[in-house]
Amino acid sequence: METQHAKEILKHIEKYNEIVITMHINPDGDAIGSSLGLASFLQEVLHKSVCIYNESTFPTWLSFLKLPCAYYTNVQEIPFKNPLIITLDAGELKRFGEELITYIQDKKTICIDHHLGNTFFATEYTWADPSMSATGEMIGHIVFAYQEKTLESVAKALYVALSCDTGNFTFGNTNARCINMLAKLVATPIAIAPLREAMDNNWTQQKLHFWGKLFSEVRFSLDNKFAACLVPLSYFNEYGVTKEDLEGFVEQMRKVKNVRMTLLMREDIKENRPIVKVSMRSSGDDDVRSILMNFGGGGHKNAAGATLEGGLENNYQKIYSYVKQVL
Ligand code: 5GP
Ligand code: MN
Repeated sequence: METQHAKEILKHIEKYNEIVITMHINPDGDAIGSSLGLASFLQEVLHKSVCIYNESTFPTWLSFLKLPCAYYTNVQEIPFKNPLIITLDAGELKRFGEELITYIQDKKTICIDHHLGNTFFATEYTWADPSMSATGEMIGHIVFAYQEKTLESVAKALYVALSCDTGNFTFGNTNARCINMLAKLVATPIAIAPLREAMDNNWTQQKLHFWGKLFSEVRFSLDNKFAACLVPLSYFNEYGVTKEDLEGFVEQMRKVKNVRMTLLMREDIKENRPIVKVSMRSSGDDDVRSILMNFGGGGHKNAAGATLEGGLENNYQKIYSYVKQVL
């Protein structure tokens, strides 16, 4: 099944010399890893001209992954006339940002994604498979459909993608197919220890103190089945940290026994108006995506997100009213 999709996508790619890779705004480890892995493959193996576009800047916590091509945050900078656009790790156009939506209106597009609810906006081909552990796994299937071995740069980027979206191969999406892909990446070969060092042991002291503050403020409710943490904008200045330093925090709250669902809410400002970026996590049958769909969000059953207008407390109460019905 995946080989068939991979071959179809390779056939489409063959027709273009210039390719723009893009992924959802505020890119996570899977979005970045799958983009960089695909970019390396297209450029170094298929000899295409490639660039990556995202309106968000490249996350510094992933800077140990070397960029194989230009990374633009402004669509005007893209030097190609009529490129193929490959959109990764999201199935709704709005997740790629306003500028990208306008830019791709008259262009050919392919979408590769593992979220539920793909809207099939791509003009040439959509491969949407929620059973895939990560978009990086899907890129792996493409790369290995082309040839049995791949480059170290491709394998490293895809390892990061898989590791991030599977909680380092511990979440429910870690199936045999995912582990088979992991084995192929490791056999490339890549050295795991330095990658883990770069991914795990890179905290600043500020981040440690920031997490300490947040841990002390986690709210438990609904018989301790629900844990939530609200992060005011002022904390970032106060602790000398950035929003990147929150990466992984929402998973930490689930470490507490009996907690079934976690919620992280980060205050921000967009166009002079207060907004809240929401992340929720769960396991098994507890469906956080359904809850955040009520707020225009989405994602996976056990990991979902949304962006809401307004302040922290007000939005917390709104989300809580849905959580209460489920737990
Ligand atoms: P996170 O909480 O790490 O931002 O996101 C968890 C999952 O939900 C990821 O797969 C992410 O792509 C998805 N996600 C995050 N925010 C949104 C959103 O606003 N809309 C949709 N549809 N998915 C989201
Ligand atoms: Mn993903």
